[in-house]
Amino acid sequence: MPLKVLIVGAGICGPAMALMLRRSDPENSVTIVERYPGIRHNGLQIDLRAWGVPIMKRLGLMDVVREKVVHEAGFTFVDAKGGRHGVFGTSGTNTGAQSFTSEFEIMRGDLAQLLYEASLKDPKTGIPDAQPTAEQIDAAAEDKPGVRYRFGITPKTLAQDDDGVDVTFSDGTERRYDLVIGADGQWSRTRRMLFGEEAGLAMLKPLNLYIAYYTIPTIPSDGQYAQFYMPGGGRGIAIRAADRPETQVYLMVRTDSEEVRRGIERQSVETQIDTFAKIFQGVEWQGERFIEGMRKATDFYADAIGQVKAPHVAKGRVALLGDAAYCAAPITGMGTTVSLLGAWTLAGELARHKGDVKIALEAYDVNVRPYIDEAQKLAPGVPWLMTLDTQWGVKVLHFVMSMIAFFKIDKLIFALMPEDKAGMAMPEYPELKIDGTS
Ligand SMILES: Cc1cc2nc3c(=O)[nH]c(=O)nc-3n(C[C@H](O)[C@H](O)[C@H](O)COP(=O)(O)OP(=O)(O)OC[C@H]3O[C@@H](n4cnc5c(N)ncnc54)[C@H](O)[C@@H]3O)c2cc1C
Repeated sequence: MPLKVLIVGAGICGPAMALMLRRSDPENSVTIVERYPGIRHNGLQIDLRAWGVPIMKRLGLMDVVREKVVHEAGFTFVDAKGGRHGVFGTSGTNTGAQSFTSEFEIMRGDLAQLLYEASLKDPKTGIPDAQPTAEQIDAAAEDKPGVRYRFGITPKTLAQDDDGVDVTFSDGTERRYDLVIGADGQWSRTRRMLFGEEAGLAMLKPLNLYIAYYTIPTIPSDGQYAQFYMPGGGRGIAIRAADRPETQVYLMVRTDSEEVRRGIERQSVETQIDTFAKIFQGVEWQGERFIEGMRKATDFYADAIGQVKAPHVAKGRVALLGDAAYCAAPITGMGTTVSLLGAWTLAGELARHKGDVKIALEAYDVNVRPYIDEAQKLAPGVPWLMTLDTQWGVKVLHFVMSMIAFFKIDKLIFALMPEDKAGMAMPEYPELKIDGTS
């Protein structure tokens, strides 16, 4: 029996979920609501690792991903004068295996766009549907098979009973669905509606780390290697130019300061920029360039970094997906991968338990858990090692990194790190009938 589904959030796993639902049963009707006026293209390089790679292959999207991959030579630490300490390459295995630089690094905006476009294609003909305007998506339109996006809208209330979920939206419309999927990011309103405002918010466990992401014009010294600089005081700066037209900048600060939290967490872009500018004022290397660039950037994005630990990722006919359910934090490099794995598992269980949404969601809740636990493992010393407090500590780290690079033992270290998921295969769902081969 085809399903009428609402997905909240058109980030990464929202469109991926829509695509999988459409491929597994072209009669499914999927509506995605996104609170922004369109697909958000900000964000910098994100990684496809472990299960993320075979899932994109099964979806037949690996060729498009390869076209968009950022070709970064590797990673190095730099000091205040730009001197290098330890230079590391990519893993070179073509499997998404671990290194500082993943093999499938792609700009977040490119991945969001390609998943969005793929979700709109008719599975039989491959031709994209014409997208109706928001006004054209009335209740009757939502009863039809296919995928449609309603931008600039957010759900206000959810009320579920045995047979469906009633949803009211910010534009005053009301609809009923067989299933609602919250793919609305780490601050997920769906999670808060499901578990209660306070309990839902408390599930985001802070790591006392804040990151700003933006791009600035490239200069020749930015080079092909990602460069990482630690000025001390719990701060870190990374830049990545590779083969991109602009240089990506990451400003990181690890602190338990209430003032910093209040200046970044769910604040306006202007307030966040002022807060980061204050924290990084006067740092050496290219501090001034980065602050000036941040003030001019048009793609600035910043957030508090944490991990979502929800006791359950589904309740009745409402499921949570991706960062909303189990945000792994960007410092694990696993956020995108586990969100795709989550979509795969949820779509798989829905296909397996056709007609019984509640049983499918119970199975999703149980079967996705081992992957969440694996993805949320932090590498030893992280985030402290990325944001050291003293110059003395930074010097020791530089020395150790130079030795590791010199003796080429980085591959051994990465094989031992928790991101090596070689032992855990992705779950198989032949019922999904999704087996692209690119
Ligand atoms: C703008 C942006 C930039 C990012 N940049 C990076 C980065 O550089 N590096 C990195 O590692 N990770 C980044 N992330 C996080 C990364 O995308 C996720 O960790 C991962 O890909 C899983 O994606 P997701 O779809 O679960 O969540 P997200 O990618 O966060 O997508 C959630 C979507 O839900 C929408 N949304 C939120 N609330 C509502 C609501 N109430 N109603 C409707 N829609 C809602 C958001 O606007 C967003 O489009 C970024 C996220 C965002 C939103």
